[in-house]
Amino acid sequence: MNSDYCEFCHIISGETTADIVYQDEAVTAFWDRSPAAPVHILVIPNIHIPSLNEAKMEDAELLGKMVLCAQRLAENQAVANRGYRLVFNIGPEGGQTVYHLHLHLIAGKRLPIFHG
Ligand code: 5GP
Ligand code: ZN
Repeated sequence: MNSDYCEFCHIISGETTADIVYQDEAVTAFWDRSPAAPVHILVIPNIHIPSLNEAKMEDAELLGKMVLCAQRLAENQAVANRGYRLVFNIGPEGGQTVYHLHLHLIAGKRLPIFHG
C-alpha cells in the first residue's frame, strides 16, 4: 500500500465504510471501531499526515479545525458540559497504531486521571 494512502484515507474516500458523523472539505469524523468510552470519535484531516510529528506551520489552520470539530461534536453528543478528553497519540511510545493523524474525542463516563 502506498504509505500516503492508508486505512483512514480509505474511510475518507468511502472505499471503507465507517460510521461517519461529520465531514467537510477539511476534516472527517467517525466513530472508533473499538470504543474506549460511550463516546469515542476520531477526527482526522482529509489529507494524509502520518502523525503530529509531520505537521507543519502551514497545517496550523487544519489542526485548529480538527480541535474545533471535536468541540462541536462534544456539544452534539451532549457531553460538552459534563466533560471530555481530546488525545493525540504520537509514535510507538505514545501508543499510535494508525499512521494517519487523528484526534480522539473520548467522553460519556468519568475518565481515569492520567498519570502517564
Ligand atoms: P491510535 O492508537 O493510533 O491513537 O488510535 C487508532 C484508533 O483507530 C484505535 O482506537 C482504533 O480502534 C481505531 N481504528 C483503527 N482502524 C479503524 C477502522 O478501520 N475503523 C474505525 N472506525 N476505527 C479504527
Ligand atoms: Zn491516510
